Amino acid sequence: MTPATFRLGSCTIHAGSGLIDRVGAIAREAVPAHRWAIISDSTVAPLYAPRVSAGFGEVRTDVFTFPAGEAHKTRDEWARLTDAMLATGFGRDGAVLALGGGVVGDVAGFVAATFMRGVPFVQVPTTLLAMIDASIGGKTGVDTAAGKNLVGAFHDPAAVIADPAVLTTLPERERRAGAAEAIKHGAIADANYFRRVTESLADALAAPAGDAMHHILTGSISIKTAIVSGDARERGRRKVLNFGHTLGHAIEAASGYSLLHGEAIAIGMALEAELAERLGLAAKGTAQAIRAAVESVSLPARLPKGMDADRVLALTRADKKSRAGVVEFALPARIGSMAAEDKGWSIPVRDTDTRAVLTQS
Ligand code: NAD
Ligand code: MG
Repeated sequence: MTPATFRLGSCTIHAGSGLIDRVGAIAREAVPAHRWAIISDSTVAPLYAPRVSAGFGEVRTDVFTFPAGEAHKTRDEWARLTDAMLATGFGRDGAVLALGGGVVGDVAGFVAATFMRGVPFVQVPTTLLAMIDASIGGKTGVDTAAGKNLVGAFHDPAAVIADPAVLTTLPERERRAGAAEAIKHGAIADANYFRRVTESLADALAAPAGDAMHHILTGSISIKTAIVSGDARERGRRKVLNFGHTLGHAIEAASGYSLLHGEAIAIGMALEAELAERLGLAAKGTAQAIRAAVESVSLPARLPKGMDADRVLALTRADKKSRAGVVEFALPARIGSMAAEDKGWSIPVRDTDTRAVLTQS
């Protein structure tokens, strides 16, 4: 498949199998920097940094790495990377290339947003989640002891370069977890895409360099860019991207992060769709369709055995989306469209209703 491109503001998003060996050329065309800081993690750097560096030709690249994993998405790593760039003489004429999953994209993006008050950056996402979600939309940042993503900045990449062939080295569980966001994209915005996802996601995950995955990437990227471009700062429609995430984040935390984000979101989407049906907002069958899509790739659709509903409920209140003690949800009206456009896509829900869907099943 020939690579596809999308525009989002001043950012060009490239998606296609084989692009990893063209990263240098595409990045140099997008940003005329004298030096590049390639920021990656301890797992991805050995796999792909040499190939990416080689593509920059005579332009100098320095590779900076930090240990893989969410536990390292911290101000400490941000400071260490920034200091290392300063120590090797990076200036305002340098640029940052983020090579890795969403953790690398968020940390490296935050380094780029703040280094000398902001230098250009390019995202090279290497997980499915980062390709269809985290690398698009300009949110960067780190976690703190008080919670995830609590310190950060909006900083748009100049380019995003997504090569699904690199997903062959990604563990299968991580691949499947990323697929939850593709199901979400169909559910919130496009019934035809949702059907395609339900039918082809398993094949796409089994052969990441093939046509089925190409169509998932391009379908999801086009939906996410369309939603973000109308609402970069999440004041309105961007909120629909939170479908599945109010309960999903709470379930992820309640599992002590033994569930991957996408696994928790899969459960969150199934339960929030049930909540929407219960409240009379969603057409009958919406929850069943979401459950079928989730189960088509062996993602979980029910609260794990032994997880306490009241603990999950309490954790929804800690969410950034909770306002004045009332928990707000982005809920579907049917597959492909979301409820409450007239109320800013955001629906306050009483605990009794949320508890009811958490305790059924
Ligand atoms: P991740 O970056 O931790 O990657 C998962 C694991 O896979 C890591 O161990 C990584 O080293 C490894 N890995 C990555 N690519 C690989 C490859 N091609 N081959 C082999 N191993 C590979 O996790 P993630 O799921 O990509 O991202 C999660 C993060 O993204 C969270 O911190 C979340 O907050 C963030 N996020 C940000 C946004 C945003 O808008 N900025 C949106 C969604 C999620
Ligand atoms: Mg998500």
